[in-house]
Amino acid sequence: MLSHLECSRSGTRHDADVVQGTSPDGAPLLARYDTERVRASVTPAEIASRPPDLWRYHEVLPVRDPAHVVTMGEGMTPLLPLPRAGARLGLPRLLMKDEGLVPTGAFKARGAAVGVSRAAELGVRGIAMPTNGNAGAAWACYAARAGIGALIAMPVDAPEITRRECVVSGAELYLVDGLIGDAGRLVAGAVGRREGYQDTSTLREPYRIEGKKTMGYEIAEQLGWRSPDVILYPTGGGVGIIGIHKALTEMRELGWLTGPMPRLVAVQAAGCAPIVEAFDAGARESTPPADPHTVAFGITVPKALGDFLVLDAVYDTGGTAIAVTDDELLAAGHALARDEGTWICPEGAACVAAAGTLRESGWLDGSESVVVLNTGSGLIYPDTVDVDVPVLAADGAIP
Ligand SMILES: *Cc1c(COP(=O)(O)O)cnc(C)c1O
Repeated sequence: MLSHLECSRSGTRHDADVVQGTSPDGAPLLARYDTERVRASVTPAEIASRPPDLWRYHEVLPVRDPAHVVTMGEGMTPLLPLPRAGARLGLPRLLMKDEGLVPTGAFKARGAAVGVSRAAELGVRGIAMPTNGNAGAAWACYAARAGIGALIAMPVDAPEITRRECVVSGAELYLVDGLIGDAGRLVAGAVGRREGYQDTSTLREPYRIEGKKTMGYEIAEQLGWRSPDVILYPTGGGVGIIGIHKALTEMRELGWLTGPMPRLVAVQAAGCAPIVEAFDAGARESTPPADPHTVAFGITVPKALGDFLVLDAVYDTGGTAIAVTDDELLAAGHALARDEGTWICPEGAACVAAAGTLRESGWLDGSESVVVLNTGSGLIYPDTVDVDVPVLAADGAIP
């Protein structure tokens, strides 16, 4: 029940039924819905009986005709209690939203499912985007399923598995000797010369965020239409945290959620922490770090187009922004695997590490319900674990 698009900076209205990029002043456009109609058409109780994927929230998603939905069953991922890890960290009410289980192994599939569906509905013939790996892999796969083209550019250092996903699903892939911003400039140059292609870079089209916001709807629904006290999110381009904030706001407008907003925490890696630096300085925009690097490749974003929206989400909810080192996040991920048997991605592990740090500093007192977002599977990052084990001769013996 999409109504229109709204400029996130100036509030101006824009037509939602033609292909749109950013607003004329270069700010992200946000989808707005007819709240009255949504409220009159569906209740949370009705949603409970729908299939377990993100399309259960279709009244607040932008695709108009169900025939245009491109899906691989993404969404409704588990909200797992982490009792052992929680006890170790002093956070007995620790939960993890586990996005490692979605198609392509990272939550990027949510944005791709909704973004590709809506692009195809509007007549786009091919999507083009820079990526740190996971988004490109997801959009390539969903573009294949939609029967449209995919032009992807990623840094040579991006996780190798994501190249293979692009290639196997038939995308046109380029590796760039540089960072995601360099890939973005190359893609922007190519899109202008390609009939029917849309630049679907982070927040340069309005619908990826709509897919990602469903993480917020699911967390509320899975808690019985209640908010947790705190949500920690590994922040790169910021689409997920902006989306969760948008979802929480929409659910309150719809009357589906009451009570205080959860405090939103933007977690970054110390090697690339522009949002944290801006937050510490009380600023509303970020400055790119000189030499960004971290093993948590999905959050290596030196300058996010939506940095001011991330900071708004954090400030509005009384949240915070915090950086953890690569050593800390890798150790937290490995400890979690030993405690709970789940191998999460370094980005998700950054949130677990940050939860521990916030407990130690007293920002968390241990009474809160805390949700960490694990944005992907550890399987995408096999090289983050060293295997140093004995090799036995076939006729040898195990001690
Ligand atoms: C892209 C990515 C992130 C960062 O997501 P944003 O919503 O753009 O901030 C975090 N984790 C993983 C695994 C990613 O691929």
